Amino acid sequence: MKFPSMAEADGRTLGDEEVAAAERVIRSGMLNSVWGTEARALEREIARVYGTRHAVACSSGTAALHLSVVAAAPDPGDEIITTPITDFGTVAPILAQNAVPVFADVDPSDGNLDPDSVAGLIGPRTKAIMAVHLFGAPARVAELRALADEHGLTLIEDCAQAWLTGLPDGRLAGTAGQVGCLSLQQWKHITCGDGGVAITGDDELARRMRLFSDKGWDRAAGRSHAAFGLNYRMTELQAAVARAQLAKLPGVVAARRRTAVQLLDALKGLPGVRLPRPEGHAWWLFPVVCPDGDAPELAAHLAAAGIPARAGYLAEPLNRAPVWGAAIYGASRYPLDGYRPNPCPRAERMVDRTLLVIDWNENYTSEHVELIAAEMTKFRARP
Ligand SMILES: *Cc1c(COP(=O)(O)O)cnc(C)c1O
Repeated sequence: MKFPSMAEADGRTLGDEEVAAAERVIRSGMLNSVWGTEARALEREIARVYGTRHAVACSSGTAALHLSVVAAAPDPGDEIITTPITDFGTVAPILAQNAVPVFADVDPSDGNLDPDSVAGLIGPRTKAIMAVHLFGAPARVAELRALADEHGLTLIEDCAQAWLTGLPDGRLAGTAGQVGCLSLQQWKHITCGDGGVAITGDDELARRMRLFSDKGWDRAAGRSHAAFGLNYRMTELQAAVARAQLAKLPGVVAARRRTAVQLLDALKGLPGVRLPRPEGHAWWLFPVVCPDGDAPELAAHLAAAGIPARAGYLAEPLNRAPVWGAAIYGASRYPLDGYRPNPCPRAERMVDRTLLVIDWNENYTSEHVELIAAEMTKFRARP
C-alpha cells in the first residue's frame, strides 16, 4: 500500500490555488516583500488565526527562531534552556546570538520539556526558555510561562511541528509565550518550500524582530541602519503560496486528527506501547513510546511492511550531537569554552530505545490506519 508522503504531491495540498498564487506574483513583476503585498497579507492572516497583535514573516522556521532569540536579547554567554529532542533549528539561533544552550530533560511519555527539569536549571545567567511542541503535542507551556514570569525570562514556543496545536486552556500553542515560531518548510503541515513566521503580542519584540529580519533597516527612516540585522525576508512567491496553504490548514489538521484518533482506538490496550494523548495534538507525526525499549525492532518490523516509521526521531539527542566537539566560531569557542551539555538520561533513552515515530498525513485513509494497527498488533503477538 502506498503511503502519501510530504515529499510528494500525493501527501501535500498543493493545487490550483497555489499555482494561481505563484502566477499572480510572477505576473505582477514584484517578487520582493519589501515592496509587495503578499507577505504583509500573510502576516495579517496568521495574526488573525492566532489572535496575536503581530506576525513577522521570514525565510524559514530557523530564521523565525533566530528572530525570537534576538527578541529575548541575551548578552553573550547568557543561557537559554531548551530541549534535546528537537530539530537543530531550535538550537542554532542560540549559538548565532552567542548565547549558551542549556538542555533540560524531557517527559518520557511524550518527549516534551519537563518543567521540573527546567526549573532546576534556572540560574543567574538564564535569559529565556525555548519550548518545542514536539510532533504537534502540546508542551506544558502554562507551567513554563509561570516559571518564566517568576524569574523574568522570555518564553519562546517552537511551533514548527504544531500548527493549530491546542493548549489545555483552549488557546493555540504559540500564544502562551512571548514569541511563537512557525515553519513552512517542505515537511510541515503546510508549506511554501521554506518559510517561517514569528508571532507575538508585544509591540517592542515585534519591532526588534522586524528590524533584524531586514538588515536593521527601518524603512520609514531612509537608508539608515538602526540595529544589527540580517536578511531574513520572505519572498512574495513564498508568501503567496503560504497564503493559499493557510486557507487549507484547518482541513489538514482536522483530517490528521480524524485518522490519528482511529489509530488510537485500534491500538487501545495493545501491550508494550504507550499511546500519545490526543488532546490538542496536531499530529505532525504519530509518536509511540515503547517503555520496554524495543522501538528499533518495532520500527524495523513496520518499515519492512512498507509503513513509514522510524525509531528515535534523531540519530542522537542534541545534547549528544557531534557539534559540541567541533569548531563553532573559527578558533574561538567563546562563549562555549569548556562547554559540556548536560546529560539528559530520559531523552537519551527515548532516542536510543523507546521512541517510535510514524509519518502522518492528511491524506491517510482507514486502510492506511488499519494496516499500521495490524502490523503493530502482529509485532506484539509474535512468539
Ligand atoms: C522544522 C523545524 C524547525 C526548523 O524549521 P525550518 O523551517 O526547517 O528552518 C525548528 N524546530 C522544529 C521543532 C522543527 O520541526
